[in-house]
Amino acid sequence: MQPYELSSPPDPMLGYEVRYHPHVHTRFSDGHGTYRDVLHAAARAGLHAVEITDHNVRPEGLAGYHSVGQHRVLLLVGEEIHDRTLLKGKNHLLALGIRQDLSSLAEGHPQRLINGVVDHGGLAFIAHPIDVAVPYAGEGDFSWRDWDIRGFHGIELWNAMSEFKMRIPTPVHALFYAFAFHRVARGPFVDTLRLWDRLLQRGLRVTAIGGSDAHALPARLGPLRRTLFPYEWHFRAINTHILLSEPLRGDFDHDRALLYRALAQGRAFVGYDLPAATEGFRFWVEGRAGVGHMGAPFPLKGEVTLHIRVPRPARVTLIHDGTVVQSWQKARRLQVPVHRPGVYRVEVYLWAWGRWRGWIFSNPVYLHPT
Ligand SMILES: [Zn+2]
Ligand SMILES: [Zn+2]
Repeated sequence: MQPYELSSPPDPMLGYEVRYHPHVHTRFSDGHGTYRDVLHAAARAGLHAVEITDHNVRPEGLAGYHSVGQHRVLLLVGEEIHDRTLLKGKNHLLALGIRQDLSSLAEGHPQRLINGVVDHGGLAFIAHPIDVAVPYAGEGDFSWRDWDIRGFHGIELWNAMSEFKMRIPTPVHALFYAFAFHRVARGPFVDTLRLWDRLLQRGLRVTAIGGSDAHALPARLGPLRRTLFPYEWHFRAINTHILLSEPLRGDFDHDRALLYRALAQGRAFVGYDLPAATEGFRFWVEGRAGVGHMGAPFPLKGEVTLHIRVPRPARVTLIHDGTVVQSWQKARRLQVPVHRPGVYRVEVYLWAWGRWRGWIFSNPVYLHPT
């Protein structure tokens, strides 16, 4: 697969879809794989783009298109930055699309770091906003704690490792999930969804992304040894699907700019691709002003209709200003007329492995009165 031969059919109005993974650690920090391992896993999992985000370090000279067998993968290099003077480092910020190490800006209030990332042309996303501690494993709570911030692009709504940590009250649970990866993911934390809605209600435009925080950690229990969640598993699971205004060309500078522009606009959704591919999901608005996309403001003038398209029948929920408007049990295509301004977003749940699991989380459309 060439990166610019998207498997989704060309869809000029609704965007060219790219599967992108925004949160991965390698041996440059506390991950256990190399960037080549990441590339091979990304190619096998069918990702178009993957971003390495090591802790407080940004390796030089890796970003670009890389050939892996028949595949080409767009490798991007950002950084996950935190203030090392804080105990165990709260406030992890994903600095995506930066061109140099910015970890020196992390000391003090995180607003300084957010401003620095934005001033350097990067995108600032709050990593794992809520992240529980696992005391017996020596894993701390890495939640974001300072919310008197602005100017950031969004939050990592769904982080695979945060969810895994929450599900392992004992080491035996860890082993169970290491052999049953598909049992881990159920959806973003309810508290993280509420937090997102509260931020949106403050009038902020906050884009949701989904990632794994993959580390390819080695795990050992007695004679059993294995990699705890290899990169490839993660890349087949929770991803960020970005909708580009034109197809990828295979030209690094062009494609990089295209991808970050769409992500900065919030033209993306979070998809859990393991139970079924989420590719093809679309959420948009139509009205007198034309067509409006996820992430964008749109005027509520005359008749305005929300459109939802889901790749296969699933439970679809429409949310307005943090409150459920309506749920549909087996929806595939929906058209919903709306009359009230506010923030609209969509959650989709799929029945898989014995329970309802979060499958797709749209970014909002922002309807404003005229
Ligand atoms: Zn982190
Ligand atoms: Zn991380």
